Amino acid sequence: MRRTEDGYTGVSATEEWAAEVRRLAERRNAVLLAHNYQLPEIQDVADHTGDSLALSRIAAESTADEIVFCGVHFMAETAKILSPDKTVLIPDERAGCSLADSITAEDLRSWREQFLDAGEPEPVVVSYVNTTAEVKAETDVCCTSSNAVDVVRSIPEERPVLFCPDQFLGAHVKRVTGRQNLHVWAGECHVHAGINGAELAERAASEPDADLFIHPECGCATSALYLAGDGTVDSERVKILSTGGMLDAARSTGASSVLVATEVGMLHQLRTAAPDIDFRAVNDRASCRYMKMITPAALLRCLTEGRDRVEVSDEVARRARSAVERMISIGRPGGGE
Ligand code: SF4
Repeated sequence: MRRTEDGYTGVSATEEWAAEVRRLAERRNAVLLAHNYQLPEIQDVADHTGDSLALSRIAAESTADEIVFCGVHFMAETAKILSPDKTVLIPDERAGCSLADSITAEDLRSWREQFLDAGEPEPVVVSYVNTTAEVKAETDVCCTSSNAVDVVRSIPEERPVLFCPDQFLGAHVKRVTGRQNLHVWAGECHVHAGINGAELAERAASEPDADLFIHPECGCATSALYLAGDGTVDSERVKILSTGGMLDAARSTGASSVLVATEVGMLHQLRTAAPDIDFRAVNDRASCRYMKMITPAALLRCLTEGRDRVEVSDEVARRARSAVERMISIGRPGGGE
């Protein structure tokens, strides 16, 4: 096994590897959770696959002593926030997230202060779940891409809203709610921002019978709605969905082919859920290098050595938990990314 910049390498995902992973997980009394964007072999060996929030809820309800979170760091932190008494492990703690990194707790505090200094009323801070525990601790209510609209609608009209960190999800919420006092932080995920409107328009035109499943964090969500609005693409074909929503839609769509605009790992879940449908990526280079740092070698190391441990201080966890619990009580949280 070798440690490289892109993760631990040198172990193949053979049947022996899968059997050893299962044996070690059982010996540790650990539950293995894998995000939808993980490598197919990691998804297949896990006990549960899903989106970040669904996995955190499974973690909180599990009777296992340890949670092994195959995803990126903020997701493992959310599991720790909701399960403070359990040991939470991530196979490679270097698996970060460019979206979560686009705002720090300090950035958020100064944004709020500048807003108040400008004489504006006390704002409500809404953060997408793709944020660090420290940012969540500075947040009034978290949201997922499924319930972001409901969360914003639950806030009294006269209260301004500071929405972070994703500018595309923020623009989507602003458009749907028509809310003028919603202020959006200019953060983005490098993977989703790379799926652009021009590419989507070209693919949609070349495959006129395909449905379009679009994650609202994608740079193309705005242009997808625009294309639907001006008749270039039949509006019935455009579906703006969280990853959990995509799986539901895959089971119910009448289309025989679907263009998918999100991280390419999602295709594995969609193809498993609806094997008769031809799912294709709008941009097949949309792969998250952080998600892919959870390699077969990293998972084996994690289960053998009990590393890397995810820790969140009690005070940060307490404040972050209340923002996450408010989110869960509003609308249909679904799963976020
Ligand atoms: S796909 Fe983007 S938002 Fe998701 S974990 Fe990777 S960098 Fe973060």
